[in-house]
Amino acid sequence: MLLEAQRRRVVEVGLEALRRGIVHGTAGNFSERERETGLIAISPSGIPYPETTIDDVVIVDAQGNVVEGKRRPSSETPMHTMVMRQFDHVDAIVHTHSHFATVVSTIRPYLPPILTETSLVVGARIPVTRYGLTAMEDIGESVVEAMTPASRAVIMRNHGLITFGQNFDQALLYSMLVEEAAEVYVQGLAANGGREPNLVPEELVDEMTVRFNTSYGQPAGER
Ligand code: 13P
Ligand code: ZN
Repeated sequence: MLLEAQRRRVVEVGLEALRRGIVHGTAGNFSERERETGLIAISPSGIPYPETTIDDVVIVDAQGNVVEGKRRPSSETPMHTMVMRQFDHVDAIVHTHSHFATVVSTIRPYLPPILTETSLVVGARIPVTRYGLTAMEDIGESVVEAMTPASRAVIMRNHGLITFGQNFDQALLYSMLVEEAAEVYVQGLAANGGREPNLVPEELVDEMTVRFNTSYGQPAGER
């Protein structure tokens, strides 16, 4: 069996996303790339997370061709493979339909910097794509158009959220942080009579990020 460890992680991250309430039913999809071979383990299409086993996970190549697997791969395989082809920093992708990020996708061109932690860890502005045709190359193009080489998250218009990491721990963390910020933003707007709530001063984010990256937590080797 190819990519057994990656298959297992795809199953586990789906269950974890379900537990955290950022996917429901069969919504969302997950993929992890193996660096050495470039092969990608991706969740199967339309199978509920609690029923998904490692045998259901599909192995595809960089073009999305099935290399091993008895199931059809996620309908969003073209989006996952397109992002991984274009962006070398992405080895794990988490796509969810989390509620508040999706609300933001219907009202704004980007989620502004509303929470300090999200701004530092994910980025000041989280872009919202143009509308992309689901399960087509088009939705992948809409995501890639909104990305830069530093992108960790993109909100998909009238659809959901996609996050990018070197592994699922990172990508799942970014999903949670964006959803948390989107919730505060939507509730902040509502509590403020629809007017823009107070935001993190955007011009401070770069400087704070440098400080955060060098001094937050414990020194390396002392944990
Ligand atoms: P799949 O079950 O085919 O992965 O589709 C779920 C989804 O979120 C489509 O955007
Ligand atoms: Zn989706």
